[in-house]
Amino acid sequence: MDKNIAWYIQKQVERTIKNINNRNMEGYYIKNREQLFQKLKDLITEGSTVGVGDSMTLFETGVIEFLRSGKFNFLDKYKVELTSDDKRNIYIKNFSAATFICSTNALTESGELYNIDGNGSRVAPMIYGPKQVILVTGINKIVKNSEEAEIRVRQYAAPIDAKRLNKDTPCTKLGYCVDCKTPNRICNDFVVIRGQFIKGRIKILIVGETLGY
Ligand code: SF4
Repeated sequence: MDKNIAWYIQKQVERTIKNINNRNMEGYYIKNREQLFQKLKDLITEGSTVGVGDSMTLFETGVIEFLRSGKFNFLDKYKVELTSDDKRNIYIKNFSAATFICSTNALTESGELYNIDGNGSRVAPMIYGPKQVILVTGINKIVKNSEEAEIRVRQYAAPIDAKRLNKDTPCTKLGYCVDCKTPNRICNDFVVIRGQFIKGRIKILIVGETLGY
């Protein structure tokens, strides 16, 4: 990476982490995959129960495979044989997990988390339940402010996610959001997290890469 771009990103990450910490959450800069897995080993007790929310970042970084190592009681929502009732049971169990891991659709430089969800199974445990929530995010998710976050989640992340899910929605044909009211709409829950009562319950690992969407 160009050293001047690296300097810009470093400054952006530094002020984002400072503001995350001021909101009773914890922010960490993670340089590479090796550091990521070391941090996860430090944060997650072997044998403890771990749930995840839908996240391409967790697949791209290898976190899902890491959780399948057998060292954790992993509530694996991606097993092919699961019925919709099985999935619902996993979503309910996620609330009492020791750790819940997912990513975020956007992270503002002032330390706010912006997310859109279809049925709430990803954003609900972020808000309440698991003892700790670990968010793994690439630097591409950092935005200047709430206005940019809103645009990112509605006009970028949501249409791409609808495409991934093969949804019959206007955005999968047009490539942008029209705030549809179709039954297949995936943008039902808009959640902004601006702080925590329990210090450090939410930990945000900012990986120095472009990850997910
Ligand atoms: S509101 Fe509808 S059109 Fe907009 S991104 Fe969501 S599913 Fe697509």
